[in-house]
Amino acid sequence: MVMSLDNTSRIKVRDKFFRLYLRKEKIDEIVCAIAGRIDVDYAGKTPLFLGILNGAFIFTSDLVRKLQVQCEISFVKYASYHGLESSEKISRLIGLNEKIKGRDIIIAEDIVDTGFTIANLLNDLKQYEPASVSIACFCFKKESFREDFKINYCGLEIPNLFVVGYGLDYDGAGRNFPDIYQLDESDV
Ligand code: 5GP
Repeated sequence: MVMSLDNTSRIKVRDKFFRLYLRKEKIDEIVCAIAGRIDVDYAGKTPLFLGILNGAFIFTSDLVRKLQVQCEISFVKYASYHGLESSEKISRLIGLNEKIKGRDIIIAEDIVDTGFTIANLLNDLKQYEPASVSIACFCFKKESFREDFKINYCGLEIPNLFVVGYGLDYDGAGRNFPDIYQLDESDV
């Protein structure tokens, strides 16, 4: 079995145990608060959301359904592949197109850790000449952050934990849990 729930709010995802960190009701409140701020800031505009796959598919979908402002939604993904050198790992952006030019972009990300993913995307976006770019993330690991871009809409700052659920995976599994769980390294 890939994952299971027991009666102490611990889950098993593949070979590891996780314990409840944030309930879905609290997640919903946080997403509502972000949507409210975006509604104010983008009144009269039609921002284009760029959700970063895979993790942000749930956050993006929840966020846009709470908005009053009109918006468009698209997704991008960094696909890793190996270059000519066997050890050379390069990330390639897929999913962007010319619709970016002159648009107000809101990047939607599930979790910002080092910030490397979004820093890459910000850099890649420049050539498409957006009118503006802002960032909405559900979770932010401030202690791990190594970049200097501003996060305009930050749902929740969390310590340097490994979390799953609400779009976040462990080895491909666990994204579908509505609550968020943290790695539990105590004895079973
Ligand atoms: P960054 O590029 O900011 O270091 O990392 C961003 C990506 O790393 C996220 O989109 C997510 O895929 C992954 N990530 C970072 N921290 C966690 C975590 O605690 N749990 C999971 N499941 N993924 C994480």
